[in-house]
Amino acid sequence: MDKSVGLRGYCCFNCRNIVADHNDIINKEFLGIHEKGRGRAFLFSHAINVVEEPPYYIIMITGPHVVSDILCAECGKNLGWKYQRSFREVNKYKEGKIVLVKYNIIKV
Ligand SMILES: [Zn+2]
Repeated sequence: MDKSVGLRGYCCFNCRNIVADHNDIINKEFLGIHEKGRGRAFLFSHAINVVEEPPYYIIMITGPHVVSDILCAECGKNLGWKYQRSFREVNKYKEGKIVLVKYNIIKV
């Protein structure tokens, strides 16, 4: 029914590299709180054209997590992070998912 599937996405605010597909958004009202970025963010099932940094342990407002920083593969800007592991049951659904902070990406 919707013929425009796959045509919308998000790009890096800095170099306009496409980093995520609109169809991969899980949560558009995700509140991302992290030392690398704070504020509105989108939770994606996966991202493209990004670099995943080595994982590290961090205590977030929602509890302890192991995350990896997500960098733009083109310009190296930090765009968000990926949840590698969550230690609380309520956060388990985030594992393997990617958060891109809203002010780091532009809708295309
Ligand atoms: Zn970039």
